[in-house]
Amino acid sequence: MSGERGATVKLRKLGEGVYLAPGSPNTVIAVSGEEVLVVDPGIGEGRGDALAAAIKGLAGGDAGIHIALTHGHTDHLAEAPRLAAGFESTGIHAPRLCVGLVEDTRLRRSLVYGGLVSGGLASMPMVSLRVDEPFEPGARLSLGSKAIGVPGHTPGSSVIVFEEAGVAAVGDAVLGERVLARFGIPFASDLRSWTESLGAILELVEAGYTIVPGHGPVARGGRARGLLEANRRASERVYAYVLRILRDHGPISLDRLAYMATRDLGEAEATPRQVLLNRTALSSVLAWLEEEGKVEAVVTDEGPAWRARGIL
Ligand SMILES: [Zn+2]
Repeated sequence: MSGERGATVKLRKLGEGVYLAPGSPNTVIAVSGEEVLVVDPGIGEGRGDALAAAIKGLAGGDAGIHIALTHGHTDHLAEAPRLAAGFESTGIHAPRLCVGLVEDTRLRRSLVYGGLVSGGLASMPMVSLRVDEPFEPGARLSLGSKAIGVPGHTPGSSVIVFEEAGVAAVGDAVLGERVLARFGIPFASDLRSWTESLGAILELVEAGYTIVPGHGPVARGGRARGLLEANRRASERVYAYVLRILRDHGPISLDRLAYMATRDLGEAEATPRQVLLNRTALSSVLAWLEEEGKVEAVVTDEGPAWRARGIL
């Protein structure tokens, strides 16, 4: 099936009535008669049109489509308007705690970067959507799907579960190994909560679900367990790194820590954008370590800085 502007998506069946449209992020499409639920339409010129063409091939041109977002990040929602334009009736579902992020690009950038940055620095399309149906963890969505709260990547991050098909769209609550290696630090507004949320996804894997990460391979069984373990290890590595650096080099400013961690933990180049993204996750690590009494904040001539407690 081909999109009108050249981009194509080749659907792969994951379970009864549930399909994968591969991409980064991946999109999950559930079909029942003329009703369709699309999870995370994604990003990239032509993807929305290509998804629309693929959906029309599955459910017909009169299909009513619902779009559900696992969370309110630009790369997961940017093509929603193009996709929706191909259908008469559409509704957008998003986690209630992500509504502000979906509806306002400034709020989105402020949370992602720990303060507002320019559109140029964020280097993402400035797309905002109106959320028709905010949902809570545990809510039932269209086509018998269900939301499970997995906070951390964003406060409202959710898994969309298709129980009958045994498929779970986990968004960025799980990252692929290549993403982990590239960025070194799993991006999260709250890295501790993100790590704890891996437990909820492990329960789905143990129950036999196929998991579809936003950026990474579709996996189930032992392969999925291994992927979750790699995610947990990546988080633990960041904690250990921060404690070591604070012990050896503290007091150290968050900005300097973000630079060093970007250089030492991942393969990606230390661009302003990358360092700022890592700074957000590291800020949450410092928050947790401070609450546990392991580090403390002081002021230096480089601004606020953190040191391991008990080290002068
Ligand atoms: Zn995300």
